[in-house]
Amino acid sequence: MTNKLFNQFSRRKFLGAAGAATLLSSARGFGAYASSSSSLVDNGAPDGGQSSTGSASGRAASGGKARIVDMHVHFDAKNPNFIEDFLKVAERLNLTALMLTPFENRKVVAEAAKQHPTRIVPFGYVNLDAPDVAAQVEELHSMGFRGLGELEFVKKPYIDPSYFPVYEQANEYGWVVLFHTGIVLRKKFDEPEDVASGRMRPIHLEEIARRFPKITVLGAHCGNPEYEWAAEIARWNSNVFFDLSGSSLTKMQQRLSRFREIFWWSGEGDSQVKTPENDSSAFAKVVFGSDTGLEGIENVVKQYHALFDACEVPEATRQRIMGGTLIKLLGLPG
Ligand SMILES: [Zn+2]
Repeated sequence: MTNKLFNQFSRRKFLGAAGAATLLSSARGFGAYASSSSSLVDNGAPDGGQSSTGSASGRAASGGKARIVDMHVHFDAKNPNFIEDFLKVAERLNLTALMLTPFENRKVVAEAAKQHPTRIVPFGYVNLDAPDVAAQVEELHSMGFRGLGELEFVKKPYIDPSYFPVYEQANEYGWVVLFHTGIVLRKKFDEPEDVASGRMRPIHLEEIARRFPKITVLGAHCGNPEYEWAAEIARWNSNVFFDLSGSSLTKMQQRLSRFREIFWWSGEGDSQVKTPENDSSAFAKVVFGSDTGLEGIENVVKQYHALFDACEVPEATRQRIMGGTLIKLLGLPG
């Protein structure tokens, strides 16, 4: 989900309290909605905001915090100081972001990425239904963008052949492409809206990953609530990964160990699959993504660590999830 929409919706005003946000996210079950709710939570709730603990595991030998790669940070064009604000958070958490950038903001983010290559990896958001989308993608590539995302709000299912030319471009570039998957917020209640989560089901990513094998497919929100489909598709497709941003880790916070039923395989024997560095943990198919306001990222880091503990995720796998996998995939500079 995008901050842009979130701001348009003025939910911060509408819902001042974490309680209201939690109530709404659980009552409506919106993954993307709740990803915004976590921003709300972080604006006023005790467990949001700027607390002292960072990444609890995988510290670098240097004594600093191990580097985190966040695949899901939306550039917020409404905040004129967004880049500076981001850099402060990034320094504090030792974080690198895939910065998901609307096409109209491409220049400022491309420039910032050049100045801060260890903090900002530029990703471009394009509207797959726009008539000039191919030209936009080409321009993003020429400007040094590393991939596309977060693709969402499509008018047709992701696998509609009219979208294939864009995937072909991404395939040619060997790009990483981030897709929203699962439930999506409703912006308008009084007028018709052409938005449907069924077009963004995680099952569609399988076909994209197979038809366009040089694309690394990142699915946001692990298909919420279709976790099983998301995980199984990631299992059989080495170029598919998912983040757990959105409401899932909040919804499941009392039963996080249930994710072991979703990411169940051992990676050995008959269930041997291709994973980063032959990691045998099924959780190696997860990557870190926050999809929250800057002030909420640290809280999502904590949620991931709670998941790791509940599911007894091995230390090496935790490090891959929190950054290792994407550092390697994108060849990020140290
Ligand atoms: Zn999303």
